This record gives sequence, structure tokens and C-alpha cells, in this order.
Amino acid sequence: MIKLIDILNEGFNKQDTVDKVYPFIVRNLGSAKRGIPKVEFHTNIYARLSGDQQATGEANPHAEYDWDKNKIYLYTPRMTNVEEIIKALLHEYTHATQDRKKFELYREKGYANNPYEKAAHRAERDWKRYTKYIKTNESKDLNECIITHSVLNGKVLLAKNRDRAYTAKVSVVRELIGDVELVYILDNETDWSEGMNNYGIGIINSALMVNADEKEKKIIKKKGKPSEDGLKIRKALSFKSPSAAMQSLVNYTGEDKVEVGVKGHTFIATPKASFAIELTSEHQPILKKLNRKFNHARTNHGYAYKDSGYTSGPSKKSSEVRWHIAQKVLDKAKTPNDILDGLSGYWPVDNMRNNPYRDQDKVVNPNKTDILSTTGQILMNLNDLEFIIRMDQDKSEYFGIEDRTPDYYKPTIKIKVEHVKNTKIDNNER
Ligand SMILES: [Zn+2]
Repeated sequence: MIKLIDILNEGFNKQDTVDKVYPFIVRNLGSAKRGIPKVEFHTNIYARLSGDQQATGEANPHAEYDWDKNKIYLYTPRMTNVEEIIKALLHEYTHATQDRKKFELYREKGYANNPYEKAAHRAERDWKRYTKYIKTNESKDLNECIITHSVLNGKVLLAKNRDRAYTAKVSVVRELIGDVELVYILDNETDWSEGMNNYGIGIINSALMVNADEKEKKIIKKKGKPSEDGLKIRKALSFKSPSAAMQSLVNYTGEDKVEVGVKGHTFIATPKASFAIELTSEHQPILKKLNRKFNHARTNHGYAYKDSGYTSGPSKKSSEVRWHIAQKVLDKAKTPNDILDGLSGYWPVDNMRNNPYRDQDKVVNPNKTDILSTTGQILMNLNDLEFIIRMDQDKSEYFGIEDRTPDYYKPTIKIKVEHVKNTKIDNNER
């Protein structure tokens, strides 16, 4: 079982966790009777009351709300992980929203029958919602997307839903390298990019980790710099011929000489021909020419390599269901917008984790890997040189178009930036 919470707990800092989570708890649980309580860490209840750090005793609560001082005390030795801290804050803050006189009355019913304690325990159940505010670089490595390739009315289209475990801070960059104009998205935190150039070459990618289910545990170990795949895609986009771009995608090394090529599923297409590349750190690249009579989608399980990406469990199921829906969307689409609209719908799936457009807050019975939401969409029309991005209002921040081309240069790629709204798909569209 993948324990992403272990990733969150790696580098776990108690005060930092409170700082990141508490403002959202305060916002969601309503106003406290006497203003927002201060949160303090103490060794234990005896040390706090006596001022003697060595003092100990029998009763060792996890946390307390101090009705007199309007403070929440968290007892450090009990706060061993993110879950404990969030639950304690939810519980004690709930008390701060309650009426003190009633609490005194209810107390006589005993702890288990006290409706205020019941309410505080109910509040704890929501703890997972708050894990998303504790960002780590490690959780930035987790990404699951959908990429598609189709030809509509003679136009070659690449599209993508981009799922992330954090609020994506994204710019669109226009750049001139030699006489090649590039337009691509740039994730300001992870340096991720994908896009197109004015020779009609477009590149999109979807992650495919080796033994992904195992790998997520190991991400913890992998510290340091973000993946260089964004750099590799930008490099590939600087070529004029598709074969040179493909060579670059497969063979290019960044600063990290060990990591060769762009990992995962990549679609690279031009108005003339389209290809799929499947590559992981443990597999040789497989290059396949795409038959344009059909529509193509890739999610996060292996196609050529069955042991790559997700191989079992809820993540595999999600990858497969999202793949099926994406194929259906492509088959029904009559215009390029139909593709983005279809991929941003809420489909009648049994659980939100299996929807092509994802929202971690809507997942039923979330497990610890359900921290991904769709942050936006990309659509490239390689014949008409159009680059469209749709940003999710809540899950992304848009930083505008960064034009790095010289003043004399007249751009040829059209950029369109929109917001995406997810709409429910009617049952008759099933
Ligand atoms: Zn309580």
C-alpha cells in the first residue's frame, strides 16, 4: 500500500505543520467564541501547569483547549505526525467555537455522551483535507495526466489534462531560438514544460513511473532538484524537423548525465506525422508511429511495457478508467473544444479519482494517494499553430504570458488563455 502520508511526514516539522494548516481550519470551522485561540506546544500537561519541564504524571492527553486562556495546547511527544496535529487542531478548535456554559453542563453526561465532544471528534474525520496545505517537494513529483492525440477536420490536435498535488503556478512562454519560435507552459516551481513550435511540432507528456506503486514510497529518498524533463522538452522543441526533435527527446541529457531522455508517455506530432514514445528509467525507449485513423490517449499505466506505471490497485484502475473516458471523448468530439469540454466534465464514475478531470476534495473514501487535482488543460492545433490553455480557478495560479522574443519579431503561434469550468456530463452522454 502506498503511503503518501509518509512522504508528507518526511521532513515533518511540528510548528510548520500548525502554521500551514491552522488558518484553513479556522476558516472552515467558523468563528471561535473568543477570537482565534493561540496554539502552543508543551511537553505534557504537568510540565505546563507546574512550569517544571521534568514533571510527569498519569494522564497524558494529546491536546487541550484552555477555556480560561483561550489557548490550544499540543503535547509534543504525542504529536508524532501530520495526522495527529491536524486532528488535535480540529478537535480543540471545535471546542473554541462552543459555548462554555453548555460545555460545563454536558460534561456531567460523561465524555462519551457529551455532544460537544462528539462534535469535536466528528470534526477530526476531515483531517485528510488539510494535508494538501503541507507541501513538500516530494509530493510535487507525483503527477498523473491524460494526453490525447486526434485528427479533427484535417487538423492535428494534442490535448492534455494536467493533474498535480499542489497549486500549479504556471506561465506561458514565447521564445525565439535561432529562427524557431517556441510556445510552452512553464511550471514555475518544477520547471516543467510542454508546448509547440512554429514548424508545427507539438510535444505533450504523461508520467509513467517504473513500478509506480513501489516508487511512490521511494520518492522520499530522492531529494534535491526537480526532474529535468521540462528542460529536455524545451530542447526538443527548438528543432525544426520532427526526427531531430525525437532524437533529442530520447537521447538528450540535462545536467544529470544519468537521466537520459524524457520519461513517460510522450506524443510528438506535426501536421504530417505523429509518434508515441514510451520510456522509463528502466526501459529502452519504444517509438511507435500513430495510425491517424484512430484516436489515441495515454494515462499512467504502461502500454508497451506492462510493468511500468501503475500496475495494480486504485491507481491502476483510475488510470484505466480515465483512459477509457478519454477515448470516448475523442471519438465523440466534433470540434477541438469538444475535447477540452469532454475531458473537463464530471462523468458518472463511481469515484472522483476515476474521473478524467480530478478534484481531490470530491474523492469518496480517499486513500493516502488521493491528493491530485486537475490544475488545467492544454490544447495544441499543429496545423493552425494555436496554443490554448485552460486554467482551473482553484488549483492553479496563472502568471501571464512571458514574451522573450525580440521586439522586431512578429509571433506566428496564437495563444489563448481561458479558465476551465467543470460541468456535469448528462447521463445520456454515457
Ligand atoms: Zn474534547
